[in-house]
Amino acid sequence: MTKNPSKRKRKNKPTSKKYKFYKIEDGKIIRGRFCPRCGPGVFLMKAKDRLYCGRCHYTEFFSTENKEKK
Ligand SMILES: [Zn+2]
Repeated sequence: MTKNPSKRKRKNKPTSKKYKFYKIEDGKIIRGRFCPRCGPGVFLMKAKDRLYCGRCHYTEFFSTENKEKK
């Protein structure tokens, strides 16, 4: 019949979205936030209120709440 079902069907899944972290403005490459632990090669995943590194689990919270001090 068909091919071996154990062979995973490859979906149209994007491999790495690293390109998303790069922006080019005025001919300059502007990178997104990267992990201070892993180095510039590892970018931080953007969550709702924090940045997260999937490699070393480094988490950086946005300090929006403490921005306005009374
Ligand atoms: Zn990291």
